[in-house]
Amino acid sequence: MEADGIIIATGSKPASIPVLEVEEVGVIKGEEALELKELPRRVLIVSGGPMGIEFSILYRMLGSGVYLSKAGRVKVDKVILSVGRVPNTEGIGLREMGVKLNSKGTVIVDEFMRTNVGNVFAAGDVIGRYFLAYTAYAEGEVAAENATGNRVKVDYGNVPIAVFSYPEVASVGLIEEKARKLYETVRKGVYPFSANGRAISTGITDGFMKATNCVKDLIEALYIHPSSSEALKEAALTALGKPLHV
Ligand SMILES: Cc1cc2nc3c(=O)[nH]c(=O)nc-3n(C[C@H](O)[C@H](O)[C@H](O)COP(=O)(O)OP(=O)(O)OC[C@H]3O[C@@H](n4cnc5c(N)ncnc54)[C@H](O)[C@@H]3O)c2cc1C
Repeated sequence: MEADGIIIATGSKPASIPVLEVEEVGVIKGEEALELKELPRRVLIVSGGPMGIEFSILYRMLGSGVYLSKAGRVKVDKVILSVGRVPNTEGIGLREMGVKLNSKGTVIVDEFMRTNVGNVFAAGDVIGRYFLAYTAYAEGEVAAENATGNRVKVDYGNVPIAVFSYPEVASVGLIEEKARKLYETVRKGVYPFSANGRAISTGITDGFMKATNCVKDLIEALYIHPSSSEALKEAALTALGKPLHV
């Protein structure tokens, strides 16, 4: 097969670690946890990341008894391993092409998604940066643009992060801990959803909105009402010492 440009986008697969002392129960990995035909009565989830939290919430809501990693010695029907992802770079001819991989097997690319081999690009999980669909999408677009003669970069400046737990958790920009490492003064505003009209009307008032070092635009913007996003303005106002409803 011949082509003017090649984009490697073979994704990733679940990583594995040895699980000791597992007797007579199945150990499943990553997305296999979404394909079970029967609901386990008790499940142990071995994970240190967001996907483990999401699986925990899912199985809890479906009615399983759920234990998370550090549960000690427990009797369960299934063990779900969710301990990260490894890139699909084996057996697809990358070494033969001379494409450089790092020690974890991910394809090394520059800011233009270029590998070390002329007109061979890579994007998505295979480059091991975020393991997220929307960053993979952005990287794929950039790789395609550059493979067809353009010169663009991915802007990783404000990658949003979400955990589909209950309550859900999401962040964008600098989180408080990182902001404190970078700046001497960090202003922080926290606004509880128990004071948010939308949350009250749905009866789900758990959680809060937090804003750190917020910009003026956040306060001057208009927010749809009733919405959860209104809480962002309230948190920003609180950070500036001008709380409105708390
Ligand atoms: C359970 C689960 C939940 C997730 N939830 C979220 C979420 O909520 N939000 C989010 O942003 N991300 C989520 N992700 C991550 C997201 O799915 C990935 O980051 C994203 O799909 C990566 O895109 P990609 O194009 O790099 O790889 P993929 O989407 O995996 O695509 C790779 C493709 O390459 C094909 N392929 C592999 N090897 C070969 C080969 N040798 N020859 C030809 N084709 C090949 C595969 O079949 C596949 O179609 C989740 C992932 C999992 C597993």
